Amino acid sequence: MNSIENINFNGQNVLVRVDFNVPLNSDYEITDYSRIVQTIPTIKKVVESGGRAILISHLGRPKGKINPNLSLIKLIPYLKKHLNYKITFIDNCIGEEVKNSIKNLKNKEILLLENLRFYKEESNGDISFSKKLAELAEIYINDAFGTSHRKHSSTFYVAKFFKDNRYIGLLIKKEIERLNKILITGKKPITVILGGSKISTKIDVIDNLIKKVDNIIIGGGMAYTFSKALGGEIGNSMIEKTKINLAKNLIDKAKKFKCNLSLPVDSINSISFTNDSETYSSSISSIKKNFIGMDIGLKTRLKYDKIILNSKTILWNGPMGVFEFDKFSKGTEFIIKSVLKATEKGAYSLIGGGDSIAAIKKYNFKTNLLNISTGGGAMLKFLEGSKLDVIDEILSD
Ligand code: AMP
Repeated sequence: MNSIENINFNGQNVLVRVDFNVPLNSDYEITDYSRIVQTIPTIKKVVESGGRAILISHLGRPKGKINPNLSLIKLIPYLKKHLNYKITFIDNCIGEEVKNSIKNLKNKEILLLENLRFYKEESNGDISFSKKLAELAEIYINDAFGTSHRKHSSTFYVAKFFKDNRYIGLLIKKEIERLNKILITGKKPITVILGGSKISTKIDVIDNLIKKVDNIIIGGGMAYTFSKALGGEIGNSMIEKTKINLAKNLIDKAKKFKCNLSLPVDSINSISFTNDSETYSSSISSIKKNFIGMDIGLKTRLKYDKIILNSKTILWNGPMGVFEFDKFSKGTEFIIKSVLKATEKGAYSLIGGGDSIAAIKKYNFKTNLLNISTGGGAMLKFLEGSKLDVIDEILSD
């Protein structure tokens, strides 16, 4: 792997594409720092060996406009707490002023540049923008796993200007090793728990995993399309009508490959999509006309608990229900507890996706035994068996 462990960066300007796209609350305050924490080893590696680290990242979706609420300057206090090196910030990411700041940078110093997405060129994959970024350094490292499923200027096209001097960072290396533990080297039985809203975003993942893992557990909104495919009455629950046949095909394919595709047997239903509504529990195949399936039921939780506790390798992506409403978060909470119990017994567990991580945080569960991925979309793309071009391009050297 074209990784950085044995590279000496002494005296070099190193452009490091990190993923500092941390979650923010409605007041634009940072609610979780794990993406930054997981990038620290790569930054340390550059500066410890005498390099000058120039950090670039995006934050949120400013859509090509300057938005002070999304300035990366807010990360500086946190970075200073975790990196014992001089760190400065400049409110642009390209141009003469940035170049001058870099000229003044000394070995073992860090410069954080402003949000890349203040330029629309970043998301458009604009080559001339990539070239301007490339002019800032002699070496390029990509450690932004969370955006590695997107071919943006600072992730894909910029690497083309560093043909002999480009690397993947320690976090990307770790993320790929973690995912390969699920797909290739993991101890059996391997169980993948998939939830969330739509089946359409996870069909290709399920299709690929059927051939590779022992159990696939389904929860969340997509369970109701599966129920409909089996002839169930699902009331007003979330449904993707155009995917019913695909759901049927997946059920058949799982049988063919002897993969246990496990579907909910019962559901907690609500008269409206709110937290304080009338609810009742029923079989997932006989939900009353006006009711919406909001969470997996008690029987399903116990059924899934057994499978999870019997697993040696576990991946979880996506909540089991509308966990944002306390009333419908119990299924997700139960499954997190099962994963934790299995992990305490020795299973390897990898968790991905913003909602799953938010759910773990919501209940203040101890996460030290769990492996928390920094990638949601990138993780799903990898699990689909699709190439992550941004990473493959660098690894092809
Ligand atoms: P995704 O982005 O596909 O991972 O979906 C996450 C979202 O799925 C969360 O906001 C959940 O509230 C939502 N979700 C989970 N279960 C259901 C359900 N039964 N009906 C509607 N939405 C759901």
